[in-house]
Amino acid sequence: MSTVSLNGLSHAYENTVSPSVHPFNLFIDDGEFLVLYGPSGSGKSTILRMLHGLEAPRSGTILIDGVDVTHAAVNDRDVTLALESYALYPHMSVRDNLGFALRIDGLPAEEIASRVESVAEKIGLSSILDSVPGDLSPLQRQTIALARAIVREPKVLIMDEPVVNLVPEHQADTVRLIKDLQQDFGLTTLYATSNLEDAKILADRIAFLDHGRLIGVEEPEVAEALVASIADTDS
Ligand code: ADP
Repeated sequence: MSTVSLNGLSHAYENTVSPSVHPFNLFIDDGEFLVLYGPSGSGKSTILRMLHGLEAPRSGTILIDGVDVTHAAVNDRDVTLALESYALYPHMSVRDNLGFALRIDGLPAEEIASRVESVAEKIGLSSILDSVPGDLSPLQRQTIALARAIVREPKVLIMDEPVVNLVPEHQADTVRLIKDLQQDFGLTTLYATSNLEDAKILADRIAFLDHGRLIGVEEPEVAEALVASIADTDS
């Protein structure tokens, strides 16, 4: 459980004229679901990539639980990207899929078994731990992909437009699943989307981005009004 503090954070890609992200401040509280919302190119992925450690900021600092991780390596941050792809190992049991990253992290076998079983029980996957993903429904596979991130007990969960490539009938179910699991596990979460309806369902607060600028952070109830005012300013 963790807080995230982004202070004066900005970014520019090499050989580009204007910054991809202009300096901004944002504090995400312990257990909060913060949605980064804005059109394509507004800077959402770049912000997530800086938090993940894949892009170095041009200015500013990133604190997780008050610890400066601005220049920490990806593996030293406890930030996990969930649902990056739905590529579970199709012939490996659900149990082994869930434990895979923990084995790579070098955790002892008993610890892996107990974490996997406890998360599986909370999420209702216990009865399918010995099945293989290839035999399961798309929503069950999504659940496993999320559980795989949760079982790592990350300080911060990040998701970058995770439902955009799903067929429409699975999008709403997956958004609901993400919301339910985030609440059940109380994970501090940052989620990027350009879909306002998803943002409103998921978010405790929505951070509005436009052309690399953070223009406001609001609760979902006032989202429509803010979007309308941004559209007015842009036109
Ligand atoms: P979003 O996630 O909201 O679509 P991005 O963070 O991907 O936005 O992009 C922010 C800006 O940075 C855009 O202007 C985009 O064109 C630019 N950009 C993204 N990736 C690169 C890159 N690898 N090299 C140069 N410019 C990039």
